[in-house]
Amino acid sequence: SRRIVLASRPVGEPKPSDFRLESAPVPEPGEGQVLLQTRWLSLDPYMRGRMSAAKSYAQPVEIGEPMVGGTVSKVVASRHPDFAVGDIVLSQSGWQDHALSDGTGLRKLDPSLAPISTALGVLGMPGMTAYTGLLNIGQPKSGETVVVAAAAGPVGSLVGQIAKLKGCRAVGIAGGPDKCRYLVEELGFDAAIDHYAADMPDKLRAACPKGIDVYFENVGGAVWDAVFPLLNDFARVPVCGLVAHYNAKELPPGPDRLPLLMSAVLSRRLTLRGFIVRDFASQAQDFQREVSQWLREGKIKYREDVVEGLEKAPEAFIGLLKGKNFGKLLVRVAS
Ligand code: NDP
Repeated sequence: SRRIVLASRPVGEPKPSDFRLESAPVPEPGEGQVLLQTRWLSLDPYMRGRMSAAKSYAQPVEIGEPMVGGTVSKVVASRHPDFAVGDIVLSQSGWQDHALSDGTGLRKLDPSLAPISTALGVLGMPGMTAYTGLLNIGQPKSGETVVVAAAAGPVGSLVGQIAKLKGCRAVGIAGGPDKCRYLVEELGFDAAIDHYAADMPDKLRAACPKGIDVYFENVGGAVWDAVFPLLNDFARVPVCGLVAHYNAKELPPGPDRLPLLMSAVLSRRLTLRGFIVRDFASQAQDFQREVSQWLREGKIKYREDVVEGLEKAPEAFIGLLKGKNFGKLLVRVAS
């Protein structure tokens, strides 16, 4: 059995040496346990936060412990009455190819309904984040303009597509021409802006002639700076992620722009509201039903970026934080 543990806490961008691959005998399930073999491991931006000791909404990973992560796993041995060998489950097995579980938190998946990897993407945590954050906090109305960055990723791509289904103008921001073309040509966004372009703020302004009513914040940094002046009165900003800052070592140099921000919040009556997907756990069934339906009807598309082999996870994860992925980043651990 192989697993990847946290070897050291990164300062700034994670390095391959912050991770360590270890081997151990495959464990035997005890009474009431199942042995899971990982098929798919999800790599997600939040994992950067777990590598740091700083207090957040979740516990940090301890040095020497396996990295946390959602997985789609197969039951390969069972001494648990509710699980049979061959069952496919959604699990939190982390960065390892085998794990024991007492069944807590496992959800059985039906491979005949959708490809099992979608339980980590469009029909999983990232999809639920897009759906709940946009609908509850963004509250998009027909005719409004919705902007989202990291728009080619699993969260952003669903935000833009739901915005279209709600009759909005959807503008995506993504890194590079390939991702931008994908947003417009494949996913039906009205416009896409490359955040690497020097004149990105001007292009964004031109793409939002009636200003911005909903900005789904995934990024922060220079993208937020470009969005901020365009926010309309009563704009809503679901604050979902700030991936441009996850590797930051310190605050950027001044001047202090907080008064500018707060004056705008006041005078333009902006709503900025942070959320964690589990805040909306009670809406999981609505999400599953509605997004599965849209998928079946071909109204929603998704894209996966698959890396082969557990040993590739550190490099792929480091790349995720700077946009090397194109679509939901997954590691195929076993087929
Ligand atoms: P993605 O697959 O979209 O990966 C992150 C993307 O961020 C990269 O691919 C890159 O795309 C973009 N990015 C990185 N740095 C920058 C930068 N400096 N400026 C602009 N874009 C940048 O990830 P997800 O869809 O899984 O997650 C999207 C966001 O949602 C993240 O912030 C994540 O933390 C957050 N999230 C929050 C949850 C919650 O409960 N609040 C739950 C799940 C996710 P590009 O090539 O376009 O630059």
